[in-house]
Amino acid sequence: MTALLTASALRKSFGPTEALVSASFAIDAGEVVAVMGPSGSGKSTLLHCLAGIVRPDEGQVRYQGRDIAELSDSERTALRRDEFGFVFQFGQLVPELSCLENVALPLRLAGLRRRQAEATAREVMARVDVAELAPKRPGEVSGGQGQRVAIARALVTRPKVIFADEPTGALDSLNGERIMQLLVGAAKESDAAVVLVTHEARVAAYSDREVVVRDGRTREPVVAA
Ligand code: ADP
Ligand code: ADP
Repeated sequence: MTALLTASALRKSFGPTEALVSASFAIDAGEVVAVMGPSGSGKSTLLHCLAGIVRPDEGQVRYQGRDIAELSDSERTALRRDEFGFVFQFGQLVPELSCLENVALPLRLAGLRRRQAEATAREVMARVDVAELAPKRPGEVSGGQGQRVAIARALVTRPKVIFADEPTGALDSLNGERIMQLLVGAAKESDAAVVLVTHEARVAAYSDREVVVRDGRTREPVVAA
């Protein structure tokens, strides 16, 4: 069986900065993989390449065997919208919308009517234990609650891959643990893969496997004998 999402020998520079020199990656359906490494090592750039947000200078990203560079812009947009979910560190909820409207937004963008989108959004919010936040604005909820709402929004389209970039970065350790349990539990339940970018071993411990990035290069972690 081929992996769901793969990257081979990615290179990406931003002007003089070589963010990725040679990065490779593979993830299977339902797998949770942590991308680890120090700040500035290229983790986010790798995630952005895998998600079709940043185009690598060299190398290939394949989703279900297809080179995503060969898709048209609208096909790539549809891929991100229909197959991928995103959770970031903070600032990802639209402040003018209620939490319910935020969670329903990906379904509205996919063309569903408000009533149907919001009914599904309520179900997912109940699953991640934030049903009561539906009418509130993001500015009225705590950091941990906001991340739960963001996870509900990432799950609402039943994505095949969830991209999570430092999802606990703005939370204290107890809330961080809760968010990781929730994210991994929900992903496993729906057989979604998770690409988890983190620099914290405590967060990476929730993954099935770790990939280490250093100076733009990936390598498998060194395991103590
Ligand atoms: P990490 O996620 O491991 O902290 P990043 O992938 O964010 O690393 O960044 C890797 C390097 O590339 C850093 O030196 C960063 O400043 C640089 N970089 C990332 N994105 C951009 C960009 N859009 N423009 C310029 N430099 C960037
Ligand atoms: P992280 O905390 O994951 O390392 P950053 O906060 O460094 O991410 O970067 C946040 C966003 O800014 C990313 O989209 C990244 O690509 C972009 N970015 C990072 N470094 C630079 C830079 N030097 N110039 C422009 N954009 C950058």
